[in-house]
Amino acid sequence: MFDVPKQFEELQVQACMKALKANGMEAVYFPNKEAAVNEVLHRIPEGATVGAGGSVTLRQLELLDILRQRGHTVFDHWKEGYGDPRSPSRRAQLTADIFLTSTNAVTLDGKLLNTDGTGNRVASMFFGPPTVIVVAGVNKIVADLDEAFQRMKNVAAPMNGMRLSDKRKYACSATGECIECDDPGRMCKITVIIEKKPPAATQFIVFLVGEALGY
Ligand code: SF4
Repeated sequence: MFDVPKQFEELQVQACMKALKANGMEAVYFPNKEAAVNEVLHRIPEGATVGAGGSVTLRQLELLDILRQRGHTVFDHWKEGYGDPRSPSRRAQLTADIFLTSTNAVTLDGKLLNTDGTGNRVASMFFGPPTVIVVAGVNKIVADLDEAFQRMKNVAAPMNGMRLSDKRKYACSATGECIECDDPGRMCKITVIIEKKPPAATQFIVFLVGEALGY
């Protein structure tokens, strides 16, 4: 018997890729994370500097470690200056040759929704680095912006808060639901919708991966 959920997923991927392309972005599908990692590495030229967004997906793919082993300078605020909103690594992401990240949600009509507590990730996605590569598992695909906000506030943020629970306690991580908290350290202070390819990025590439990745 053919795999109905997988076939449905492929339909969603095709719709999403078509819409991303219509919005001026390059979109490529990979059936598994190994193929996606190979292509990301292929797209990063020797000697290029790489900015790394705060992304569980990138760490699951071990991309940053591989890039360091290849000799790239990686601006990674999870390694350096984590608690400093103006850390050199966060600022350097804005001028890196390549910016690597995932996304909180990608819609079937080809839009990306992301939120940050500090803003370095969302800013680097739309201004600064000439090449932006977004790697997203199929679990990030949603119907539209309403669903994207739901996903961002009631899935991605609570799970991220759970990841950070040794450092901070977030209301959404205790209940699994956003209460629009007034926590001074809340994770979602700056929210950006990318509707079309940002003009400052000469290349804006979205790699969709046929696996669940990140939060
Ligand atoms: S506003 Fe507060 S409660 Fe809501 S998702 Fe963000 S951090 Fe969590």
